[in-house]
Amino acid sequence: MTTALVYDPIFLEHLVPKGHPERPQRMEMSIGYIKALNWLEREGLVQLAPRAASIDELATVHDRAYIQEVEAASQEAAAASAGTTTQQIVQVGTDTYVSAKSYEAALKAAGAPLTAIDAMMKGQIKNAYCLVRPPGHHAVAEAAFGFCIFNNVAVAARYAIDHYGLERVLIIDYDVHHGNGTQEMFYDDPRVLYFSVHQGAPFFPSTGHAHERGTGAAEGTTINVPLPAGAGFEIYEPIFRQILAPAADRFHPQLILVSAGYDAHWKEAQSDTGLELPGMRISNAGFAKLNEIILKIADEQCDGRLIMVQEGGYDLDVVASGASTSLNQLLGGEEAVDSYGPAPDITYQINTDVLIGELRRIHHLTGYRMRNRPKPDIEQLRREIKGPTITKTPAEPAQEEITSCQQEQDKA
Ligand SMILES: [Zn+2]
Repeated sequence: MTTALVYDPIFLEHLVPKGHPERPQRMEMSIGYIKALNWLEREGLVQLAPRAASIDELATVHDRAYIQEVEAASQEAAAASAGTTTQQIVQVGTDTYVSAKSYEAALKAAGAPLTAIDAMMKGQIKNAYCLVRPPGHHAVAEAAFGFCIFNNVAVAARYAIDHYGLERVLIIDYDVHHGNGTQEMFYDDPRVLYFSVHQGAPFFPSTGHAHERGTGAAEGTTINVPLPAGAGFEIYEPIFRQILAPAADRFHPQLILVSAGYDAHWKEAQSDTGLELPGMRISNAGFAKLNEIILKIADEQCDGRLIMVQEGGYDLDVVASGASTSLNQLLGGEEAVDSYGPAPDITYQINTDVLIGELRRIHHLTGYRMRNRPKPDIEQLRREIKGPTITKTPAEPAQEEITSCQQEQDKA
């Protein structure tokens, strides 16, 4: 069966102020790694150019006035840049900016998983990796937020439901930040099970508490696993096995979408709380092991129908390794691209037995059949970290000179 890589060079043209972590080089390095490994020529891989999401498709989760605001801000940036050598940038939300081409890029970032869903529903592909930016999971109905303009995964879930009549879509979000936007959009919608494992409050965006679990008919279809800083694969793995797997088993999704953010990697400054604690401690090999669990759930529940959509990950090697590793796994490969290797040890212990027990209780997963997955052998995992190595390529390009930054106040 076939795996699609959905990517468009327009994603490089969404510009941000100098020093902003969500920068075009994230895409450049990611596609650069995939090319350097000669994986574009892999058997079973097709490249798809994303279509733009339509206004009506975006409007299933976003306010129309907000969509117009983004378009207008992009036009404003284009007008201000015309006839000059600098690219003007306009702020549209907290930490979130647009340039002349950002609206087009954001429409295609939201359209990428729709392109994948169409190809999947026609039987042309089994699974897909959407290598996109801007990311999406913080964007709420009426505002940009946390580097995100449109909520790519949420638009996709609604498209699968509205256009193809799906009744159960599972969204798995392992970005280190809680996907507050995705949660909000489906908080009262029982057709979408939103599972997020993230660094808990007061870490950004401070939502995603364990007791936030949906409302009305959707009670129980939001599952939040907030973790303390310093959690590594050995903490994530039992959460996937003891909470995600039985919840997926009960929900029986027809399609799985993944908000694939790699910022829980141990090298990520973004997951630093500033509290003199480390951030999260997953390695790229650890992400591969989590993906393995997800792939198995997809095989068991929905004939492998799985679409991964890129979210965070700001260290260029981390995000490029994460994207290429995920693509490799969707293609059936097992190796992780992991030049940084395992996380350094920490001096304190994290025990999540109480959290797992509590989550299993409030989500009525107790008594649910525990999956027969073997416990991880951490020592073996460490020895296994011998994926293809890659030297940093392409060389980090100089960011276009941005001399001024027109900042509008947050319109939200
Ligand atoms: Zn993130």
